[in-house]
Amino acid sequence: MGDCDHSFIDPPFPQRTIIILGAGIIGCAAARQLLLNGFSVTLVAEHLPGDQDISYASAWAGAAWHAAGGISPEHRYVQAVCYRHLLKMAREEPDSGVCIVDAREYVEQPPSKDSSAWGRTILPKFRDLNAGEYPTDFNCGWAYQTVVTDPTRHMPYLRDKIKSLGGTFIRKRVEALEELYALFPDSRIFINASGNGSKTLFDVQDQKCFPERGQNVFYRTANCNTFYFQNGKTYTYIIPRPLSQAVILGGVKQRDNLSPEVDMDIARDEIARAHYLAPEIVPENPPEESLSYIVGIRPSREGGFRLDSEQIGNRLVLSAYGFGGGGYAFSYGIGDALVKMVETAEKSIVIL
Ligand SMILES: Cc1cc2nc3c(=O)[nH]c(=O)nc-3n(C[C@H](O)[C@H](O)[C@H](O)COP(=O)(O)OP(=O)(O)OC[C@H]3O[C@@H](n4cnc5c(N)ncnc54)[C@H](O)[C@@H]3O)c2cc1C
Repeated sequence: MGDCDHSFIDPPFPQRTIIILGAGIIGCAAARQLLLNGFSVTLVAEHLPGDQDISYASAWAGAAWHAAGGISPEHRYVQAVCYRHLLKMAREEPDSGVCIVDAREYVEQPPSKDSSAWGRTILPKFRDLNAGEYPTDFNCGWAYQTVVTDPTRHMPYLRDKIKSLGGTFIRKRVEALEELYALFPDSRIFINASGNGSKTLFDVQDQKCFPERGQNVFYRTANCNTFYFQNGKTYTYIIPRPLSQAVILGGVKQRDNLSPEVDMDIARDEIARAHYLAPEIVPENPPEESLSYIVGIRPSREGGFRLDSEQIGNRLVLSAYGFGGGGYAFSYGIGDALVKMVETAEKSIVIL
């Protein structure tokens, strides 16, 4: 741990509880991966799995795994690791709410070098669509298999998993990370997974963070096994929820908008865009009684998410926040990356 005080050895490093601020998908995925590796973990958060506050993004996600474009090779790998974990859950743990689905992606422009085409390196059954298999106004299209996660099932599943592995949750709002240092004087590792909270925590105040409102249409239909994604300037997706016999239609990104009210103009536009992509799934005018609406605030960050470590006194503070519209697609890969960061600190203590 760099300059850490090595003389302070009781309790020994591996037995000191790791404190995670935030119990969204990022904090919880990190907790699961750390617990599976034998570490002791406590999560402190204002909102816990099962809560439905608009600011608690993890309750409202689509949540599809889609290969992000414009990211570094390292971050692609984080996403790939996450895909591996989600695929295993889909195959072995039906309670997790993760499902394998077919996908169709229609691409507006010829794919650039850093486009989401890298997905072909990990997605099963990836193939280029033939002309005639995608609308003529697109440049090309891809078919593959991906995974979708139903957050209304996954977050409670993850809460139970964490508890069964020995992790604990404390419901508490803090105004600064320093409050946690005082509450847990024995702990040496703190993980900040507070999403948008990092904008206002006194000792973080990350001004690159900003809230980004999302609003989706929840459409009940038995035709719910194919993910559609429009890759380009128009941000349109159809995310299947096979376990709930529904699809999620989106999307929209509204920076600094915190309104909980459903905007029906946006809802109608999302239905129209989804109908254009997949008329066999979404009719032009779906029956009103089959529709409901989802509103949530994404924890976005200019320049992308933060994943790094800082030595603060004799503590190591790991930051993992700012995942915007991709927190589920990165989650378990971030969890594994945090495990490696914790192990690096542990190793520096063991190997004097
Ligand atoms: C409509 C919509 C659709 C989406 N679709 C997808 C998708 O298809 N695929 C995908 O990968 N992602 C999707 N996302 C994005 C995804 O939901 C987020 O990236 C993810 O949930 C962020 O998780 P998080 O844990 O960082 O933050 P959050 O879920 O917001 O959790 C933050 C945690 O920190 C706690 N906290 C914050 N401040 C404090 C404080 N001061 N004191 C105590 N606790 C604090 C909160 O209580 C909470 O527990 C979507 C989001 C929305 C809104």
